[in-house]
Amino acid sequence: MSCKPLLHLDRVSRVFGSGAARVNALEDVDLRLDTGELALIIGPSGSGKTTLLMIAGAMLTASSGEVYLNDAPLSQLRARELARIRLLKIGFVFQSFNLFPALSALDNVALPASLAGMGVRKRRKRAAQVLDRLGLGERLRHLPEQLSAGEKQRVALGRALINDPPLLLADEPTANLDSVSGRNVLALFREIAADEGRAVLVVTHDARIIDSSDRVMHLVDGRLGGDGDWDKEPESAAAPEGTRDGEAAAPSGDQPRSFANGLATSAEDRIRRLPR
Ligand code: ADP
Ligand code: MG
Repeated sequence: MSCKPLLHLDRVSRVFGSGAARVNALEDVDLRLDTGELALIIGPSGSGKTTLLMIAGAMLTASSGEVYLNDAPLSQLRARELARIRLLKIGFVFQSFNLFPALSALDNVALPASLAGMGVRKRRKRAAQVLDRLGLGERLRHLPEQLSAGEKQRVALGRALINDPPLLLADEPTANLDSVSGRNVLALFREIAADEGRAVLVVTHDARIIDSSDRVMHLVDGRLGGDGDWDKEPESAAAPEGTRDGEAAAPSGDQPRSFANGLATSAEDRIRRLPR
């Protein structure tokens, strides 16, 4: 058995621009994330959250340091191998969802499976299963514009999960949701980590979504503070009751169904059956 983390950022720094416009977006970030674990990184706007997540997701390269995914150093991989990793090993939920407006919820979710070479019947069946487990079984044919923010969020999550990735990354997943929906989304992420054995990394500026049992780090000016030294907000301030405006008015499905009975085998199995 290996003690290696699924994801390891080893002294990662990232610089943008040069001269007077130079920005040290990340400085010496160390982070380890294990299979089955959920971690939250809290930081204000401009602290480097998106940069960190893009680097962890192999969408952006580090200026120095190394990112290891399942022990493989990403800087050593060719573009084709990185593309394959992004497609099969990493699910990414973007802050603005990035759904295709002309595609139904089902086709948005099925798209990455198509890129991975899954046949049309199989991927549509699987996409329907994923959406059903996310509580959107009645919304398969809806276009993104016909969905509430919380529903769009779950379609984006379905798309991130369709290829069964061992690592799930989410950028400000609650930014466009009211506090009740935001906490539901976090509960869903916890379930995905614990029940499906995925590693889940969430970056956010929204400290209200933290639970007392969550692993929380904080990011300030590109520097990642160690686990546990983040001052969590007291429970009473965490979820203002009665915040049921806007998004909460959406049709019932906001309580996602359990993921426990699985889309997934263990993360190790998923990694093992990846094409080399
Ligand atoms: P956050 O997601 O926490 O708001 P970002 O990771 O987006 O922070 O940005 C961190 C810092 O890096 C900011 O100062 C931002 O202006 C800068 N930055 C991010 N992306 C770029 C880029 N492509 N070019 C130049 N500066 C950038
Ligand atoms: Mg950001």
